[in-house]
Amino acid sequence: MYIDLENIDADTRSVLLRDMELEFFPNDNNLTHYYSIINLEDTNNGEIGGRVSYDPATVKGVELAENLDHINDIKHKIRDIMLRNSITEYVATRDRQSTNTILVMKRTSGESIGIFHCRHCAMEFDDEIQLSSHLRMHYLI
Ligand SMILES: [Zn+2]
Repeated sequence: MYIDLENIDADTRSVLLRDMELEFFPNDNNLTHYYSIINLEDTNNGEIGGRVSYDPATVKGVELAENLDHINDIKHKIRDIMLRNSITEYVATRDRQSTNTILVMKRTSGESIGIFHCRHCAMEFDDEIQLSSHLRMHYLI
């Protein structure tokens, strides 16, 4: 499974990379090749098994050796990380072109292709009407 981080700025990317590593690759995880950082140019991937340092500016994404059945769980974990860090200008969604990919993109680019996310709980909607009726629920509580 692949997490595409190409469309976000370097600061956000470094926050995400830090928290994703903690969340997906805890120190008690003995699997090798479970979590690999994919860099833009070199083919020498920063393997976290050996805690290789990386430059967030050149990171393209993260490859997770995870069962595809868990892709929605992983997507929700990424959303939780973004909510926790108040990253509201980006959203995490399934890539509609590629079934094994989670895409992190600008909220506005998501909206332009018909993906709407609640900024309070990161739930995903197909259109603005569904989103705004969902938003009302947050304001009632
Ligand atoms: Zn919500």
